[in-house]
Amino acid sequence: MSTAIPTVKLLINGEFIESTATEWRDVVNPATQQVLARVPLATTAEINAAVAAAKSAFKTWRRTPIGARARIFLKYQQLIRENMKELAALLTAEQGKTLLDAEGDIFRGLEVVEHAANIGTLQMGEMASNVASGVDTYTVQQAIGVCAGITPFNFPAMIPLWMFPMAIACGNTFVLKPSEQDPMVTMRLVELALQAGIPAGVLNVIHGGEAAVNAICDHPDIRAVSFVGSTRVGTHVYQRASLAGKRVQCMMGAKNHAIVLPDANKDQALNNVLGAAFGAAGQRCMALSVVVLVGEANSWIPELVQKARAMKISGGAEPGTDIGPLISCAAKSRVERLIGQGIEQGAKLELDGRQPDVPGYASGNFVGPTIFSGVKPGMDIYDEEIFGPVLALVSAATLDEAVAFINGNPNGNGTAIFTQSGAAARKFQEEVEAGQIGINVPIPVPVPLFSFTGSGASKLGDLGPYGKQVILFYTQTKTVTARWFEDGSVAGGVNTTISL
Ligand code: NAD
Repeated sequence: MSTAIPTVKLLINGEFIESTATEWRDVVNPATQQVLARVPLATTAEINAAVAAAKSAFKTWRRTPIGARARIFLKYQQLIRENMKELAALLTAEQGKTLLDAEGDIFRGLEVVEHAANIGTLQMGEMASNVASGVDTYTVQQAIGVCAGITPFNFPAMIPLWMFPMAIACGNTFVLKPSEQDPMVTMRLVELALQAGIPAGVLNVIHGGEAAVNAICDHPDIRAVSFVGSTRVGTHVYQRASLAGKRVQCMMGAKNHAIVLPDANKDQALNNVLGAAFGAAGQRCMALSVVVLVGEANSWIPELVQKARAMKISGGAEPGTDIGPLISCAAKSRVERLIGQGIEQGAKLELDGRQPDVPGYASGNFVGPTIFSGVKPGMDIYDEEIFGPVLALVSAATLDEAVAFINGNPNGNGTAIFTQSGAAARKFQEEVEAGQIGINVPIPVPVPLFSFTGSGASKLGDLGPYGKQVILFYTQTKTVTARWFEDGSVAGGVNTTISL
C-alpha cells in the first residue's frame, strides 16, 4: 500500500485508530479519478471492539443529564457552521456534487443537530393521575442501548447526521458504518462531534461493506439499526437484523413521480422539475425521475429539453456547475446501459446525455441530462431506480389518470404536483400514495420538526428518521402504574380479579 495516500481511521472508544485490515478500498474523486484516501474493511475483532466500547460507555452516558447532552449538540452545530466551507470541499472532492449542493447536504444534517440540541423538550413522557383510585400512570422514554447506523454514498453528511445526533441525544451510544465510497466528510464530522464533547465510546465508527453490515445485523449487543440505502440491501438488513431481535428502520430506493398540470406556472414547474431530476446528477432518493405531463402540458417538452441542454456539466468545484459526475465508473456504465435499453425498448430519446464533452475532466464519470418521452411500465428505465440524470416523461389526459398511474408504482418515497389549483392540489394530496408530498415543491424532504416519512416499497419499519418519530425509535417507552398508600389505608385480603 502506498504511504503517500492517507488512510481513513476507525473510531473506537474515543481513539482514531489505524485498522489492521488486510482488505482496503480506494476513495476516488469521481471528477478526476484521483485516489484521495484508502478505507479499510474493518476486521471482526475491530467491529466487536467498537460495539464493546459503545456497550461500556452506555452505562454512564444513559445517566448523563438532559441539559449536558443538549449542550454538546449546541456546541456541535456551531462547529459545523464554522467548518462549513472545508466540509463542503471535502464532500465535493469525494462525492462529486457541486459545492453549493454539498453545503445543502451538510446544512440539512445541521438542522437535525439543532433539533438534537432541543432534546429536553422532545424526550418527555405522558402522565395521567387517578387512573384508578389513588393510582397514577406515566410513561418515560428511556434510552435503549447500543444503536447502529449504516449509510449510503449520496448524502455522506446529511444521512449520518440524521442518525447519531438523535440517537446519542436520547442517551444511547452508537456505532456508525459510513459508505465505503465516500467516508471522508463523515469522518471529519465525527471529529467535530468529539470536539463538541461527545465522550469516548459514545460514538464509534467502523468501515466496510457487506461483511461489516452483516456483523452489525447479527451482533447481540446492538439493539437498533437504522439503514439508508438501496432497496436490495435494505431489505436484506431489515430481515437479517429483525430476525436477530433488533428494531430496524430502512429507508430505501425510490422512483419519484411529479405531475405537471397545464394550469401550472410553466417556468416554475419546468425549472423545478429539471433541478429535481438532474441535481446531484440524479443521485438523490427524492430525485424526480418520472414526470407525468397532463393534457396541454405535453406541449412543453421542447422547452424542457432546451432548458436541460443549457445545464452546465463539470467538476463539482467549478463555479456555475449544475451537474457533477456520478459516484463511480461502475455507476456511469450502468446509467449508460439503462439509457441504451430505453432506446431499444421503444422510448423516445429527447435528449442524450451520454459521453458529454467536459473540458478539463476527460476521465470523470459524467453523464449529462437525458430525457425520454413515451416511457411505459415494463421498460427498464421505468421499472428500475436509475440513480442518474435520466428523466422519464409520461403523458396523461387527466389528473385522475395521472394519480392512478403514480399509484400503480410500488415505491412511495415522495411525489409532487405543479398546479395553481388548490382543489387539484388537495385532491392529489388526499389520493396519491406516497409518504412525502410536494405542492409546487419539487423535493419535499421535511425539516426535522417533522420526520422523513417515505412509504411503500421505499421503506421498511414503522418509524422514520429524525423528528418526533425517531425519538420513539431510539427509546423504550416504559409505562409505570403506581399506587402509594397513605399510612393506615392499606386494605387487606387477596384479590384475584383483574382490576386496580
Ligand atoms: P447501497 O445499498 O449500495 O449501500 C448502502 C450501505 O449498505 C453502504 O453503507 C454499503 O456499504 C452497504 N452495502 C452495500 N452492499 C451491501 C451488501 N451486499 N450487503 C450489506 N451491505 C451492503 O446504497 P448506495 O448505492 O450507497 O446509495 C444509493 C441508494 O440509497 C439508492 O437506492 C437511494 O434511493 C437510497 N437512498 C435512500 C434514501 C431514503 O431516505 N429513502 C436516502 C438516500 C439514499
